[in-house]
Amino acid sequence: MSWKPSLPPFRAYKKEVYESLLAVSGFIYQIGETEALRQPSTPIPVSQIFSPNTKAKIAYMKRCLLKYRKLTGKGRGIAGVQLGIPEQLIVIWMPEIKGKVLVLINPKITKKSEELLKYPEMCMSAAPAIAPVVRPAWVEVNYYGEDGKKHTWNTKTDEPLGKLYNRVFEHEIDHLDGIINIDRVQSKEIIYESDPAYYKTASFEAVKA
Ligand SMILES: [Zn+2]
Repeated sequence: MSWKPSLPPFRAYKKEVYESLLAVSGFIYQIGETEALRQPSTPIPVSQIFSPNTKAKIAYMKRCLLKYRKLTGKGRGIAGVQLGIPEQLIVIWMPEIKGKVLVLINPKITKKSEELLKYPEMCMSAAPAIAPVVRPAWVEVNYYGEDGKKHTWNTKTDEPLGKLYNRVFEHEIDHLDGIINIDRVQSKEIIYESDPAYYKTASFEAVKA
């Protein structure tokens, strides 16, 4: 009997996980790579929503979201600042709606629930770090759409998808204020996750205010 080293779990998955992160880090800014990730983003003047530049930026953001999903099999939202566009633009993967990707321009949280939930979040700019962030269960958000009109998001469903989308809205709007998910937890709570089954068991946990 001789001593044998004890190796970390999930080694078998790490090549795939880190290779996909390498691929997406070619177009997603990572923490520390730009000061803009920690600064507020600029609103889009309403008169500029249909401008060729804004349209080109939105089209690029949509392409990047789809590319990210193709490379990693996950990822629900990107804020402009993560793509070197420090403006108040967000794209959200929402296959339940027509067009699949929802675009938010100048979103503002106008109401939030007192009920709080904890959920392990991954950020494309800080992956593979997972931060179990406590946030309101739901929010009401006013924003401009690609159609140049004002819209309101206020889905308070208890269905996991409703909770998940509220969470995505909150995470992405944080980016427009220069806040990353890891800023909202203590550093010792952060985990690096390579277990492919992890998100199948992740769930929303009620937290006392
Ligand atoms: Zn993020």
